[in-house]
Amino acid sequence: MQKIEVNKDICIGCGACQAICPDVFEINDEGLAVAKEENNDMEKLPDEIKETATDAKENCPVQAIQVENK
Ligand code: SF4
Repeated sequence: MQKIEVNKDICIGCGACQAICPDVFEINDEGLAVAKEENNDMEKLPDEIKETATDAKENCPVQAIQVENK
């Protein structure tokens, strides 16, 4: 899989990723972004969501979003 992950040590909780791609990202109780368990495999996302997830990754101001082969 190509796992979408947010590095919580880097995330500043700005909410941009959730605004851009709410299908994948949400802000948790700690005020930090997480990739939703059910939508965290880039390979399995429909093209449209894949595109917004990539936009979110590219627009994170602190580059906290990673996609890794697992
Ligand atoms: S855009 Fe980046 S810094 Fe902002 S909430 Fe999402 S992961 Fe965190």
